Amino acid sequence: MNTDLTINHEWNNSVNVQKLDKLTEDLNRDHSSLKTLELLDVMINEIFKNKITLVSSFGTEAALLLALTAEVNPSTPVIFLDTLKHFPETLEYRDKMIERLKLTDVRSIKPEPSAAKSSEAEKMWETNPDGCCYIRKVLPLEESLLGFEAWINGRKRLHGGLRSDLDILEHDGRRIKVNAIANWTPYMIDVEWKKRDLPEHPLIPFGYTSVGCQPCTVKPNPGEGPRSGRWEKFSKQECGIHNDKKPGGYDAGL
Ligand code: SF4
Repeated sequence: MNTDLTINHEWNNSVNVQKLDKLTEDLNRDHSSLKTLELLDVMINEIFKNKITLVSSFGTEAALLLALTAEVNPSTPVIFLDTLKHFPETLEYRDKMIERLKLTDVRSIKPEPSAAKSSEAEKMWETNPDGCCYIRKVLPLEESLLGFEAWINGRKRLHGGLRSDLDILEHDGRRIKVNAIANWTPYMIDVEWKKRDLPEHPLIPFGYTSVGCQPCTVKPNPGEGPRSGRWEKFSKQECGIHNDKKPGGYDAGL
């Protein structure tokens, strides 16, 4: 099932960061060495039951974490940020994966129309990608995470850059983040992907290794990292949804 939602932003800023620090420390101590399926099972079906969501880009690497999550509980809410700038192939892939994995609660979150559809906003990615990501990703995600105490994501240390030393459990200043496959190697991914015969993103055969919004994604240059085709004209590495530990608001780099 794919539910399209449009976001009006308003959320509760109250949070106790010290408690989150302690909880994160405890979770890492007790659960970070579990196998990934065990970790997901404990997080989804026990500790954060009905209070956890998976945030997925339905990009080139997304299928594996989606599959693992579905194996643990296919009714886990999945948030997809529909920025209105995606490749059509990504939307088709999202729908294909929903059907394949029998996911029952995929929420496609669109930005607020008044913010995203002005002529200035339409082209903001050219001059102010941080502002564009803020409107199309950061604000909609913040709203869609209301009511959740934890979220799962697919960042990996092998991506390098700011992701090189990811912990399995961390927090973003408001809720726990489960970096469930942060420590996976390309070999592990390949083995588990093939074992499940997962379909690849339709842009992979055309040379794309990481796929985000269409205006901000090109094929990587030979010898450069898999994410080198993202925002290639800017120093930007992340869209802003993973700028962490900012109580009172995400730092979107504005
Ligand atoms: S990735 Fe590009 S188009 Fe998408 S929200 Fe960010 S700046 Fe805008």
